[in-house]
Amino acid sequence: MQYVGNVIRPPSEADSIILQVTVGCSYNKCTFCGAYKDVRFALKDEEAIRQDLLFARRYCRNANRLFLADGDVLILSQKRLIRLFLLIREHLPRINRISLYGNARAIRGKSAAQLSELKSLGLSRVYMGLESGCDLVLGSIDKGETAKSQCAAAASIRQAGIFLSITALLGLGGVSLSERHAVETGKVLAAMAPHQIAVLTLIPLENTQLGRDVLSGKFVLPGPDLILQELYLLLYQLTGIRCQFHANHASTYLPLAGRLPKDRDELLKRIQQAMNGAVALVPEQRRAL
Ligand code: SF4
Repeated sequence: MQYVGNVIRPPSEADSIILQVTVGCSYNKCTFCGAYKDVRFALKDEEAIRQDLLFARRYCRNANRLFLADGDVLILSQKRLIRLFLLIREHLPRINRISLYGNARAIRGKSAAQLSELKSLGLSRVYMGLESGCDLVLGSIDKGETAKSQCAAAASIRQAGIFLSITALLGLGGVSLSERHAVETGKVLAAMAPHQIAVLTLIPLENTQLGRDVLSGKFVLPGPDLILQELYLLLYQLTGIRCQFHANHASTYLPLAGRLPKDRDELLKRIQQAMNGAVALVPEQRRAL
């Protein structure tokens, strides 16, 4: 496969073929995100993608999952996406799950009919980064979205019958907005009612504006106690929805996973135990992105 730059995928795509369709992220302004800072956004050449599919047909013939990288493949025109999905079907007929990262902007660029068309062609899962449900936090990280605009994008994915996975990022409000960030993010997640929620914990990166703000003291990073409180407050808001809940990413202080509503009380209890020191946290040096 011919990859350009860092190719990133969600943890649940570990067994998927990764087909790079775009390079980088067309927005690339979020102050915490260093994923694609070093690459210029570009659509990959269709012949290069076809060659990668031929390679996958030869060497990954038993795989049944495919992840389309990089940051926002949905930004492609509908015509080009249709060509891509038909090509995947032709070369990799065993694939039964196609996933991608979709930011709210790119999702809103598709009509309900277009999303349904993509679903019928095989798009089965979209990973969307909410990051925060608090507009003050979203403004501070230059997400270019509000809670409302992201709820609208999430609703259109759900209405198209596509599995929706939403990511939130603990610590993003710093110390000053910690509680508000957690509570409002929990409320927005409950309103979005995604099929899966993935909660990550902020690790500032040197190549980002947020990383520089931490070094200069402009942004005060919440410590483990405050992060645990955020996790508790966020999860506490998640009532009335059925979904998978994952807070077991490598960045976490406290690995947690379960199904809501079944495991909610047990998960809340586990966080409380950690807050009381009865459960050991992941040591700082073992956390990673
Ligand atoms: S968080 Fe997502 S939308 Fe923001 S810059 Fe990174 S890849 Fe792009």
